[in-house]
Amino acid sequence: MSIEPTECLYDQDAYLREFTAEVLSCEPAADGQYDIVLDRTAFFPEQGGQSADTGTLDGRVRVLDAHIRQKVIHHLCDGPLAAGAKVRGALDFTHRFSHMQQHTGEHILSGLCAREYGCRNVGFHLSDRMVTVDYDKPLSGTQLERLEDLANRAVWADLPVRCWYPTPEEAESLDYRSKKEIDGRLRIVSIPGVDDCACCAPHVHTTGEVGVIRIMSAMNYKGGVRLSILCGERALRADRQRQRLLDGLCRQMTCGEDELGQVMAKRDAELKELKQRNAQLETGLLLTEAREAREKGQRCLLTAQADMQAMIRAAACLAEGRQELVGVFSGSDEAGYSFCLMGGEDLHREFEAFKARLNARGGGDSQLIRGKCGAAWAEISAYFEA
Ligand SMILES: [Zn+2]
Repeated sequence: MSIEPTECLYDQDAYLREFTAEVLSCEPAADGQYDIVLDRTAFFPEQGGQSADTGTLDGRVRVLDAHIRQKVIHHLCDGPLAAGAKVRGALDFTHRFSHMQQHTGEHILSGLCAREYGCRNVGFHLSDRMVTVDYDKPLSGTQLERLEDLANRAVWADLPVRCWYPTPEEAESLDYRSKKEIDGRLRIVSIPGVDDCACCAPHVHTTGEVGVIRIMSAMNYKGGVRLSILCGERALRADRQRQRLLDGLCRQMTCGEDELGQVMAKRDAELKELKQRNAQLETGLLLTEAREAREKGQRCLLTAQADMQAMIRAAACLAEGRQELVGVFSGSDEAGYSFCLMGGEDLHREFEAFKARLNARGGGDSQLIRGKCGAAWAEISAYFEA
């Protein structure tokens, strides 16, 4: 059975929240869901980089997703409906309106980007969480700020947004942006002085409804740039979240917003100095331990400090005035031990024996050998007591 193309109510009225329709078919789909086709729908399907509308059918069956195949819109639902039944559809309009704010905002930005910098929009993705738009040329920070300013001025000018179907003659003389070859009727979204673009999605009536357009981040992408943008309510929420984060940081650092950068830099410098001081103290402590160990006749030392230069100095201290092999170790039985070895009559020959007994690897010269060892501390200390 071939199904007639679905009548797209969102095309006639982007603000339509509720509608009635007839169920043409209802088939079981994957994951216990149902694929429902109606004769008409206000649900915009996933298309052109934009995720689908959500909502309910008959107030009880949830529409989780929607796709279009051969001009027929398939609603992916969490329950079945009887074929032939008349049902009432209701959109999650907060979700839809947010999508319209983001999408019209993107048209404003891309129209101005083409006009001002000759950039072509080569990618667009609008999901419930993020909006990205790709341009084919790189843009500097200054250019992006100017673009953001111009885009917001177009918002504040509250320009009409017109979605229309040009005749073939009108289309011929029209200079419009288009990402791909259009299949089906050409629909143009026009914002006077800003943009004309081929697009099938629902848009707000006037640019003022977009509220605000924010470029949140920019990254190099395929020789051009990928922008992450937020418009309207999403921009407000993101700004609120950032403000909360900033307030928290200011409280933590007990300073005002303006001083935060300076205070953090000062903290970094202090921390660096403290780390250096701490390393000096630890080295001093390690040398004292090495001296005490030597006086007690011990030949190996375990330290919590992992700095190899400090370990080498400690090994030299341990080796002072004696002929036997000595070693300084750092690590644990689980992670293994870093070590340095000194002393002995022939260090290389001593290391051969050490390697064979204690699962070690490493290298060096006749004065110093460094490496890693996989044996347990009990085995290592027993080796040096022998
Ligand atoms: Zn569009």
